[in-house]
Amino acid sequence: MQGLDTRAEDLRKEIAALPVQIAAIEKLLEAHQRKLEADRAVLAASQKERRQLDLDVQTHQQKISKLRDQMLSAKTNEQYRAFQHEIEFCDKSIAKSEDRTLELMLASESLDNNVKAAEEALTTEKAEVERQKTEARQRTAIDLEQLKKLLAERAELAATVANPLLAQYEKLMRKRAGVAVSDATKGRCSACQLELRPQMYQELRKGESVMYCENCQRILHYNPPVDFDAASGAPAAVDPREGRRVDMS
Ligand SMILES: [Zn+2]
Repeated sequence: MQGLDTRAEDLRKEIAALPVQIAAIEKLLEAHQRKLEADRAVLAASQKERRQLDLDVQTHQQKISKLRDQMLSAKTNEQYRAFQHEIEFCDKSIAKSEDRTLELMLASESLDNNVKAAEEALTTEKAEVERQKTEARQRTAIDLEQLKKLLAERAELAATVANPLLAQYEKLMRKRAGVAVSDATKGRCSACQLELRPQMYQELRKGESVMYCENCQRILHYNPPVDFDAASGAPAAVDPREGRRVDMS
């Protein structure tokens, strides 16, 4: 029964852990998605700014050619210099816009590469997350099925155990972190490591009564290694999954 309960508890833990694992990988995927969207937004803003800069350059170029025409009809040196001044101003604006455009182009080149790499990585990651989710669903279904079987097996077994002993077992399960039965094959309680008094150990080996560890109060279980060659007629009493006798263990 201890074996069944331990396996049932392991299954419950696994069933509970799977959604947590899935949530964690989904959260990571979302974070990568958000980063990609942020990069895309920066890229789009950069493209928008470049279009505006192109328009500014065109506007200033048109203004310059208009100013050059007007310069031809300048009547005084002062007027001429004023036009020249304005043209210089437009030239400077064009140079500034062109510098900024170059800067944006260089920045968006690496950003563009990042976005492309991130898009590819995300496709792979999404497929991997889906695969893991499917696997977790299948695993959970198998676990639930196995748990159902274990619980049925346990109910059957519980019906064969005397009520006071079963109650004691259940109490120990709650108080002793899910381990009520302790193996004492090597002369000590394997749960708390207490060395058993020789007399007690002898009694335990006889297996005539239920015995408890004097330190941790767990039910002691004597489980000698089975010599299959010598005990060829005995396997009926042995649970083949664990190689243990199927009394309280
Ligand atoms: Zn003990």
